[in-house]
Amino acid sequence: MAQAQRRRNCNIGTGSECKEKELLLLLLLRERGRSEGQGHQQQQQRWLNRTTSLNNNAKATMATVLAMAMAMAMLLLFYSSSTSTRITTPSTTGTADEALSISDVDADAVINLDHGDPTMFEPFWKNAGDKATVIIPGWHTMSYFSDTSNLCWFLEPDFANQVRRLHRIVGNAVTHAHHIIVGVGSTQLIHALLFALSATNTRHPVSVVSAAPFYSMYPGITDFLKSGLFRWAGDATSFKVNGSSSFIEIVCSPNNPDGTLRRAVLSTEAGKLVHDLAYYWPQYTPMRGPADEDIMLFTVSKATGHAGTRIGWALVRDADIASRMVKFIEMNSIGVSKDSQVRAARILQVISDGYELPDPDSTTSFFHFSRRLLADRWQRLRRAVEESGRFSLPQFSSEFCEFTKEHTETYPAFAWLRCDDESIEDCEGFFKSMKVLTRSGRHFGAGSEYIRISMLDRARNFDLFVERIASLGLG
Ligand code: PMP
Repeated sequence: MAQAQRRRNCNIGTGSECKEKELLLLLLLRERGRSEGQGHQQQQQRWLNRTTSLNNNAKATMATVLAMAMAMAMLLLFYSSSTSTRITTPSTTGTADEALSISDVDADAVINLDHGDPTMFEPFWKNAGDKATVIIPGWHTMSYFSDTSNLCWFLEPDFANQVRRLHRIVGNAVTHAHHIIVGVGSTQLIHALLFALSATNTRHPVSVVSAAPFYSMYPGITDFLKSGLFRWAGDATSFKVNGSSSFIEIVCSPNNPDGTLRRAVLSTEAGKLVHDLAYYWPQYTPMRGPADEDIMLFTVSKATGHAGTRIGWALVRDADIASRMVKFIEMNSIGVSKDSQVRAARILQVISDGYELPDPDSTTSFFHFSRRLLADRWQRLRRAVEESGRFSLPQFSSEFCEFTKEHTETYPAFAWLRCDDESIEDCEGFFKSMKVLTRSGRHFGAGSEYIRISMLDRARNFDLFVERIASLGLG
């Protein structure tokens, strides 16, 4: 533990023997380099290539027929003016490259920030190399079963150990009194919970609510199969608790889409609470101590960026609820991919090792690395939004983080942006006209003046997006 503490201190700037800080910075610069410097270099290179090939064509043509050469020259003139759009963009980094031309590829690119696809974390995992690589021999993970002595018989023991270990290191959830239920992402676990928490012998479906703005998938997940057991009942703040009739409130904290910390808004006596803590990790928000709720949901999608591995886990105190969830997953998918669990276990292990084991040659502090990238992105987005004078973003106060032992800000995975400019009626439509795909506030139980924008995309897309917002302020 002392070692772990020393390594944390290293990352918050103390201890001259620490190489880790330098390496993290290197990674950060590499990512920025790829997105900015190299991006500009590539644009220049593309432009040069284009010019060179055009020159060669022109020479060859001149050697054959003079008249043709004249025509070629005219064509060349037309070609270069129509395909290389010169756009002066404001620099978001204060470099001297302000008047570089953006190729038509960049200017026309559709930037999809609708989904929270966490590809931003790829540079860390590229750098982790073999440590995070998993090889599964052909004869491994063939059985349906993982551990028949466990209530959750399809839970891989090593994955369970790594889940408990990471929660202990980060200090974001207690696990000792909870069953771990693994699912195909936390999406499957939400389905399993709605089944597990609704009585099968009632004539009325249980109402499922969440305070608006709520995660846009909750209504769809609830009503997709038109179950007689539960139904979506909308915004928890306007839900009327009716006598003894039951309800399920989903509390998402930090909240998707707006990043706020949440508590249940309804009394829990008649209802049941599900705490969706997908974003309660140090890259997004300061750690305020371990959560100790009856039902907590986590997912590798947002914890580590491995959305494609499709692994989530629920921490469930009550054994009956846990058993009913297991029953649902048996009926739905007869367990959860062991291959994916093996991979997820390795990924979690690499993160925990990074904080607990000395490893001088690598950049190992995942949460510190990710936090720096997000801090940098939020800073640039806030600057561009301010310069545009047409939009606003939520503000967050800095708080003490029990994990990093420093005061830190909140850097949500999504920007919940409001179009303040009254001439814009539909914020999503306005951004679409700029070829930026976002998700309208309407999907979250809010108004069309809001949009949700993913902060987790690859650097290149994010940079183009910030440039487009900044360019709005030029007029
Ligand atoms: N809950 C919340 C709040 C989310 O944002 C997401 C992913 N966008 C999920 C659950 C589902 O995550 P997954 O199925 O990828 O684990």
